[in-house]
Amino acid sequence: MIELKNITKNYKVGKKTINALDDVSLSVHKGEIYGVIGYSGAGKSTLIRCINLLETPTEGEVFVDGIKLNDLNKNDLQQTRQKIGMIFQGYNLLTTATVYDNVAIPLKLAGLSKDLIQQRVKKYLEIVGLSDRASAFPAQLSGGQKQRVAIARALSHEPEILLSDEATSALDPTTTESILDLLLEINQELDLTIFLITHELSVIQRLCDRVAVMQDGQIVEQGPVVDVFTQP
Ligand code: ADP
Ligand code: ADP
Repeated sequence: MIELKNITKNYKVGKKTINALDDVSLSVHKGEIYGVIGYSGAGKSTLIRCINLLETPTEGEVFVDGIKLNDLNKNDLQQTRQKIGMIFQGYNLLTTATVYDNVAIPLKLAGLSKDLIQQRVKKYLEIVGLSDRASAFPAQLSGGQKQRVAIARALSHEPEILLSDEATSALDPTTTESILDLLLEINQELDLTIFLITHELSVIQRLCDRVAVMQDGQIVEQGPVVDVFTQP
């Protein structure tokens, strides 16, 4: 479903070159939950941003659902990005828009009909358990509820892949658990492939089928979670 082949990413800062990713290869199968764990600065954010080409790799190839993203023109790239949804540590909600509109905005931009938008927003707010908060503004919600809105928004265009960038890192342990349960549920019920990055081993152990351990821009270990980490 996702294949990264020999990805290298260099950032030029003044005269210095920072090697954020160094020959990273991995593949994620359809329907699996794949996690990348590593300390701050390991290259996790750069890696996840290469999957939807928010970053352009300096070298290497990115395939999503068999399509090579590197060669796509703007239109085709936009089309392929529809297969991917993303959630973030900071939720990235519009503060001036209601829950309903936060979920609806990407669908409006995609030009869906009013009926279809209403149907989709209703469906995904129900899945994340927020049907009764459609008229609320983000400031009126808890962190966990905000992340649920962000998840509904990411799912509303019905992607095949969900990318999660430290989605539970700002949440307390109980709320984290409920969001992780929700991610497991949508993985199973919507047959969604999930690719996540985290610095928390507990997230990997709770959710992931396979894991890659990153250090200094390289994958130093990779395999089924049960093989890479001893269970508690
Ligand atoms: P992580 O997500 O694991 O914390 P990052 O991918 O954010 O790691 O960073 C990897 C390395 O690349 C770090 O040394 C970081 O400082 C550097 N880096 C990330 N983004 C940029 C950028 N836009 N410009 C310059 N250096 C960057
Ligand atoms: P626009 O201003 O772009 O025309 P609207 O804000 O009027 O869009 O909303 C589009 C549709 O979504 C309307 O049918 C409206 O009734 C419905 N809607 C908007 N907010 C809510 C809400 N909080 N709960 C349920 N339906 C809503």
